[in-house]
Amino acid sequence: MALLQPRCYLCDMPIDNPQPFLCLLCQQELPYLPLSYCLSCALPKAKHQPHQHQHCNECQQQPPPWQQLITCMSYTLECQYLIKQYKFAQQPQLHLLFSHLLSRRIANQVIQDNYPLPDALIAIPLHKKRQSKRGYNQAQLVVKDLTTQLHIPLIAEGTFIRTKNTKAQAQQTANQRKNNMRDVFQVTQTINAKHIAIIDDVVTTGETIQAACQTLLAAGIERIDIWCIARTLAD
Ligand SMILES: [Zn+2]
Ligand SMILES: [Zn+2]
Repeated sequence: MALLQPRCYLCDMPIDNPQPFLCLLCQQELPYLPLSYCLSCALPKAKHQPHQHQHCNECQQQPPPWQQLITCMSYTLECQYLIKQYKFAQQPQLHLLFSHLLSRRIANQVIQDNYPLPDALIAIPLHKKRQSKRGYNQAQLVVKDLTTQLHIPLIAEGTFIRTKNTKAQAQQTANQRKNNMRDVFQVTQTINAKHIAIIDDVVTTGETIQAACQTLLAAGIERIDIWCIARTLAD
C-alpha cells in the first residue's frame, strides 16, 4: 500500500492530498506572485510609483495588445522543474495541478479585483509537428480543465493555429525573435466572442503572446487577457 502512495514532485515526501502532485507544504511555498503587481505585465511596479497606479511605468508608456496578464507564480527553479516535467518528461497528468492553481488564482482575481471573466478561452497552439512529437499541447490540457472549473466556453481546437514552427526564443537576439514571430498564428474560422483569455504555460519576453494577440485582434476580438502558469520576472 505504501508503495502506491504518491510522492511530492518537489520534496519526495509521501502525500495523501486530493491533488496527488505536491505536499501541502510545497504547495504553500510555491512562488506565488502578489495580485498588486502590474495588471498588464504582472511584473513588480517601481517602488516610487503611487499605490493607486495599476500599471507599471513601461505598460503605461507602451501598453501591450492584451488587457490583463494573470499568472500564478514566478518562474523559479521549483516552478521550472514542475513545468519541465510537464512539457518534456511525459508527465501530462500535471495539467491537473496547474489548472487547479490557475483557477484558484482567477477566482481570487474576481473576488479581490472585480475581474470580469472572459466569454471564451483558448490555448496558445503548438505547431502540429511539435504537438505530434510531444503527444499533447500542455496549454490545451490546462484550458480544458479551466473551461469545466470556471464554466467558460472553450474555443474549438483548430480555430486558432500555429503555422510556423518557431525555434526556441532564448538563444536569439530581439530582432531575430521579432522576425521569427511574424505570421506565426492564423485564425481559421470566425470566433464568436468579444473578450477572450489566451492560456500559455510560461510568459518570458512576451513576444509569442504579442504575436498571438495581433492575429486575434485582427480577427475581431475586442479584449484579450493572458492567463499563464508562470512568469519570468527578469526579461
Ligand atoms: Zn513537498
Ligand atoms: Zn507592466
